Amino acid sequence: MASSSISSFKAADLVVQLSPSLKTKPDVVDFGTVFTDHMLTVEWNANDGWQTPLIRPFGDLSLHPACSALHYAVELFEGLKVYRGDDKRLRLFRPLLNMERMSKSAERACLPAFDQSELLGCIRRLIEIDQDWVPHLGPACLYIRPTFIGTEPSLGVKKPNRALLYVIMCQAGSYFNTELSLWANPKYTRAWKGGTGDCKMGGNYGGTLFAQHEAGSYGCQQVLWLYGEDHQITEGGTMNIFLHWINEDGDEELATPPLDGIILPGVTRQSILDLARKWDEFKVSERYLTMGQLCSALKQQRLKQMFGSGTACRVCHIGSIVYEEKNLQLPNQDEHSLSSRIATELTDMQHGRSPSDWTYLV
Ligand code: PMP
Repeated sequence: MASSSISSFKAADLVVQLSPSLKTKPDVVDFGTVFTDHMLTVEWNANDGWQTPLIRPFGDLSLHPACSALHYAVELFEGLKVYRGDDKRLRLFRPLLNMERMSKSAERACLPAFDQSELLGCIRRLIEIDQDWVPHLGPACLYIRPTFIGTEPSLGVKKPNRALLYVIMCQAGSYFNTELSLWANPKYTRAWKGGTGDCKMGGNYGGTLFAQHEAGSYGCQQVLWLYGEDHQITEGGTMNIFLHWINEDGDEELATPPLDGIILPGVTRQSILDLARKWDEFKVSERYLTMGQLCSALKQQRLKQMFGSGTACRVCHIGSIVYEEKNLQLPNQDEHSLSSRIATELTDMQHGRSPSDWTYLV
């Protein structure tokens, strides 16, 4: 919970150093390669607490070679987007959910607490300063990457006495344009009970690159992470997973795995559950789902659609899964698919076409 009793930096104290020269904005770029003109940095140390937040020209960081983020992965991040509406106004989508998730990751990483609304206030100011970077056209938007690292300059494995919170931003187009193919193989595990899978920590991702590479060798774009002897479906590389089907009892259902500690609590996941519960047209469940159940549903033609959800991909249809030497072909997407309806609803809110209290004006 955000709380004013937490000793925190304050957005009202922001010091702004504007860049003397602005970059030319590129037309098309690979995601995450070109950053805006400014960044936010806030330092913390155990003796003096939080320092004054600073918006300054985007540039390299200087880190001690023993820095705890580099050695022990004391690092976490967030990912959210700012959209330019049809009315030209800039909107964030449920940003307090990202701030809350970041606070939880920080607690798990033994990094200091901060006031969530003060960080949001600083991010808002950063967006205002670099607002020309928010694309004017189509689904493109600006991606915001708050990052929090331990900067303890010593090799002891301990709670850091120094930390740096910073925020950088880059343009983002549509992340996955086509339907996805996933590779599901129980030989790798992303997260486990009691671990850090429900926090957005860098270590959760670095450790998956090897499996991601192997998925690519099977022609798949992402890993579908399984868990346990019964091959429970958990989540994709950067997305939560939904099944829209006729369940074992013959009921139409939208189902996604529960937040049992090994799954990242996605903002998009929560929004899809909230929307579908509001529609109240079919059963909406957070429940365990296994590959066996998925295969039976496929065989009995009970699966309507499988899709992934995330800030980067929004809502993305899953077309096939390579599992146990088979390439499972899933039902096609069409304009009646649930993912299309959800994507339209979310995009309309994000671009200000339908009023929503989930959006936060910058
Ligand atoms: N799972 C993982 C592992 C992710 O990295 C992401 C992206 N943050 C998601 C799910 C989706 O979360 P969100 O909807 O908040 O982007």
